[in-house]
Order: sequence, then C-alpha cells, then structure tokens
Amino acid sequence: MMEKYDVLVAGAGVAGIAAALECARSGMKTALIEKTILPGGLATSGLVNIYLPLCDGNGRQVIHGISEELLKGSIKYGPGAIPSGWNGVPGRKESRYMVIFSPSSFVLAIDELLENENIDVWYDTQICGAITRGSRLTGIEVLNKSGKIALKASCFIDATGDADIANFAGAECEQGENRLSIWSINGSSKGQGSSPDMLRLGADDSGRGHPENAPVLREINGKNTTAFVLESRRLLRRHYDRKQKAHSRENEYPLSLPTMAQFRTTRKIRGMSSIRNDAFNRNIDDSVGIMPEWRFAGKVWEVPYGSIVPVKIKGLLVAGRCLDAETGDAWNVARVIPCAALTGQIAGVSAVLAVRNKTTPDNVGIGDIRKSLDRRGIIYHM
Ligand SMILES: Cc1cc2nc3c(=O)[nH]c(=O)nc-3n(C[C@H](O)[C@H](O)[C@H](O)COP(=O)(O)OP(=O)(O)OC[C@H]3O[C@@H](n4cnc5c(N)ncnc54)[C@H](O)[C@@H]3O)c2cc1C
Repeated sequence: MMEKYDVLVAGAGVAGIAAALECARSGMKTALIEKTILPGGLATSGLVNIYLPLCDGNGRQVIHGISEELLKGSIKYGPGAIPSGWNGVPGRKESRYMVIFSPSSFVLAIDELLENENIDVWYDTQICGAITRGSRLTGIEVLNKSGKIALKASCFIDATGDADIANFAGAECEQGENRLSIWSINGSSKGQGSSPDMLRLGADDSGRGHPENAPVLREINGKNTTAFVLESRRLLRRHYDRKQKAHSRENEYPLSLPTMAQFRTTRKIRGMSSIRNDAFNRNIDDSVGIMPEWRFAGKVWEVPYGSIVPVKIKGLLVAGRCLDAETGDAWNVARVIPCAALTGQIAGVSAVLAVRNKTTPDNVGIGDIRKSLDRRGIIYHM
C-alpha cells in the first residue's frame, strides 16, 4: 500500500505536533505518524509535566507562536495557570512564563488542536525504515496492524526524539548518555484538586541522583531500553516498599507510570550547523529562533537553521530533542518542551517552503523562512 503526502511528520511529541500544525495550516497535505496512541510524547506519555519558560527570566518573552499555543493548551482542561507576575521582578522563580500541567489534560487539548486541522494522524504505527533514491529521502516504511506500509512525501520532518528516520536513512548521528530517572504520579490525598502529585526519583538533568550500580544508557536499542525501564521501576518498588512500611498504603501508592522511556538525550543528527555551548547571548547569521536558558535568568541562544538540517540526506528536517546541539548547556536547553515545540514550528515553516518551491530544505533561503516567521511573530535575533 502506498500513500502520498506533501509533508510527513514522524513522531507526535510536542515538536511533531507543532510541525504538523504549521504545515496543515499552510495548506499542506500532512501526515503525523506516532507509535503510541497518545499525542505529546515525553510531555504526556512520559509524564514530564513542567512546560519550561518561554521567557528569558528578565521579563522578556523570547518564544512565541505554536509553542505558546501549546503551553496554553496544556492547562486548558486544568489545573494550572500562567504566573500573573512572570514579567515582574526579574530573577525570581515565579518570574518565568511557564506552567505545570496535567499530562491527561494536555492530551485532550492536543486532540482538539489536531482535529481542527486536516491532519492525517496515524496512531499505533511504528516507523521502521527509510526509502531513499541516492541521498534523497522519498519515503518511509511503517508497521501497524495492517502490516507493513510505504508512505511517500515531498518533505519529511523527523520529530521522533531519537532521530529514527535520519538513522534509517544513513544520516550521521551521535548518541547521548542517560542517567536513570523515573517520574510517576503518586496516589495520595495530597495531590487531589491542585496539581498531580508527582514523584520524581533518580537523576536530575545534570545526572545527580543516579542510583549506584544502575546502568547508564549510552546507546538506544531494544535491549538497553528494556534494561533502563525495568531498573527505573525497580527504583520505584524500593521507594514504595520503604514508604508503605512507614505510612498508610492509602496515601502512598503508585497511581500512574510513564508509558515511554524517560530519556533526556538519545540520538541526535549532525546538522549543517550546530547550537554551540558558548554561543549564548550572541547573534548567529542563520538564526531562525531564540531559546531561553531555563535554569536561570539572562542567557539565551539563537537557533541556527542548519541545526535542523542533516548533512548529506536531502528532503529531511529534524525537530525537537534530536536536532544538532552540542552536548552540555546547548543540548540541555534545546531539548526541553518549549524549545522542541519552537523547532517543530520552524521545521514546518521550512518544509512548506521546500514543497511550494519544489526543492529540498537545504536549498530553502533563510530570508524566505524569516518572512514566514515574521508573520507569525516568532523572533530570531536578540
Ligand atoms: C526525566 C525527564 C525530565 C524532564 N524534565 C523536563 C521538564 O521539567 N520540562 C521540560 O520542558 N522538559 C523536560 N524534559 C525534556 C522534555 O520532556 C523532552 O525533551 C521533550 O518533551 C521532547 O519533545 P520531542 O517532541 O522532541 O520528543 P518526544 O517527546 O520524545 O516525542 C517523540 C515522539 O515520537 C514517537 N516516536 C519515536 N520513535 C518513533 C517511531 N520509530 N515511529 C513512530 N513514532 C515514534 C514517540 O512515541 C513520541 O511520541 C525532561 C525529560 C526527561 C526524560
């Protein structure tokens, strides 16, 4: 079986959703392929429920567009609110334009956004191969209950988080490292009515808290992923064993577990350019967006267009956490929810231009991309 689209977006995490919305709203025949049955990726199936800031911490909003629309969507069905004083006193925690949301509410709001556009969503469908003609990506292979299907498109956006399409197509990729974490929802009377009672165990973003003797994931594959998720749930069992000896079982029990592996950094592409660790608060010639440091105020990175364009493979863009950012501060900033959605929309803008001009993303002009970004209020220079 064969279907043909203008743009095919792989992966319905926040990056893929933003990319698909941008393409569909620009009149493209758009497909969105997702291996689970939920949109949102780590932000919903992964129970990562903090939509980090759209602002620089000094009262200035730097991310606009679909990323802001998704932030508002994440709290549409409650609970949560945008801090009223986010642009007030600089440097305080409540001075950030960010929200904590319920993953289930976010799913409902995303469903609504996707339904309002004419997007052909394929859930329960895993991408398992790439079809190329020379260095040009022309199609992908997917596997679902109907069997193996080939899907063709004029342009592809890899928003799988793991650069799956890029990897299948033979693009140069690099693997990141992952210390063990598990974010889950605790069942207790404490969490009711306000926000989910999140239980966050294991390593933080800098790797601190990684349990002794637990495996560090250095290469994403079926075996390593299985070992990682089993170890993370063992950590949770040990936690509840301890807690339930000391407290009532009614107030401390597992209520909801992540249904996708909680990896921060897995596979990323080698792009035509890279977001550099030392490139903060500097102008970049081919910038197409701005990303704020979420850990503290005052640092922002401009996003080079080349960081979402893989070298060698034509007809493909990437978006979200698998873009080219240097390991360290740059990747730590670029991979989070607001920035993943931002690069999703930028990739969508470029894909639309590539299709309209009958070319590939490496030949799309920065000036044309910026004209589209200007119309959407997206800023790309400090
Ligand atoms: C423990 C942890 C804590 C974090 N904390 C925060 C935080 O507090 N705030 C924040 O903003 N960010 C946080 N992050 C980072 C953030 O959650 C992710 O980086 C971001 O959500 C990535 O979005 P994405 O769309 O790029 O990728 P993903 O969310 O990974 O989405 C990729 C999608 O593609 C699908 N997919 C993958 N492969 C295939 C395939 N072969 N075929 C079909 N579909 C496929 C997946 O099912 C998924 O839906 C955290 C991450 C982790 C792991």
